[in-house]
Amino acid sequence: MSLDILTVNNLDGGYEVFIGNRRVFVHAVDDVSLTLHDNEVLGVAGESGCGKSTLAKMVYGGIIPPLVVRSGSISLVTRGGEVLEMNKLDIDTIRRKIWWIEISYIPQNSMNVLNPLKRIKDQFIGVFKYHNIEMDKNEIIKYLKDTLTTLSLPPEVINAYPHQLSGGMRQRVVIALSLLFNPRIVLADEPTTAVDVVTQRVILSLLKEWRENNKSSFILISHDMSVHAYMDNRIAIMYAGNIVELGNTFDVFREPLHPYTKALIESLIRKGDKSIRKGLAGQPPDLINPPPGCRFHPRCPYAINICRAKEPPTTSLDKDRYVRCWLYANPR
Ligand code: SF4
Repeated sequence: MSLDILTVNNLDGGYEVFIGNRRVFVHAVDDVSLTLHDNEVLGVAGESGCGKSTLAKMVYGGIIPPLVVRSGSISLVTRGGEVLEMNKLDIDTIRRKIWWIEISYIPQNSMNVLNPLKRIKDQFIGVFKYHNIEMDKNEIIKYLKDTLTTLSLPPEVINAYPHQLSGGMRQRVVIALSLLFNPRIVLADEPTTAVDVVTQRVILSLLKEWRENNKSSFILISHDMSVHAYMDNRIAIMYAGNIVELGNTFDVFREPLHPYTKALIESLIRKGDKSIRKGLAGQPPDLINPPPGCRFHPRCPYAINICRAKEPPTTSLDKDRYVRCWLYANPR
């Protein structure tokens, strides 16, 4: 049985912002629970703005306003077997003990995070210094070159400035930076959206190979279902801050349960099928004033009365499959 190395329980949070002089709360993550198994890829899918990236930021820790966590817990099992309650750790401990070593984060548009004034090697060496890792400079350079090679980058890249590299190479450099200390968990937030489809395929293949060789676990955030079909062991479908379905990727693609998951999968292009694909009517809800009951009910073709009044419960079908919809529960 696979070990759960990350457990998220009833996580709830969002952004406290001002509209004019009115303070409002954008409820981006609503009562999210999930586990990440050792040595797996868990995908998180859903439309832009559904809360996927906010969830990743919360899991990474080091919450910076206007993002706030209102309730819930996140526990992590380190490579050494220590169980850490992430929300009880101070930011300095998270930075020194967790980031890069236990959990790494590949942010959206990550190719823009490199310092344009520093050569690639100096950006990497800075990370070693930050973690007080004592290594001879020559050893560091060799280690860096080996890391870059695993992502099919020529070793000479270490002497380049970011502007001397193509977008795809910069993206791979940032990914290499994230994987530098072989983290147990990688949070990859849309790691390939900023690159063309050919580069996307190359990067995904390299990530897949690296993960399998290093036995790490990934939480892969993407709106692109084809990326999930290629990478994930399990997939969570997110809608308006809720995880509405979670299961083995093959099972979810073969037999989606939640009406939103069905709509996502029905909209995919299939080989040889020339019929016109139907998009989902309507817009995602305003997360400042989400609709009562099920947040999907204004767009759901199966909505019944209770859907408009009460939030649906989560129904577990087996250990690794659950759905949040009244159609699978016993209405009270
Ligand atoms: Fe549709 Fe109701 Fe299920 Fe929500 S709970 S997805 S509105 S059937």
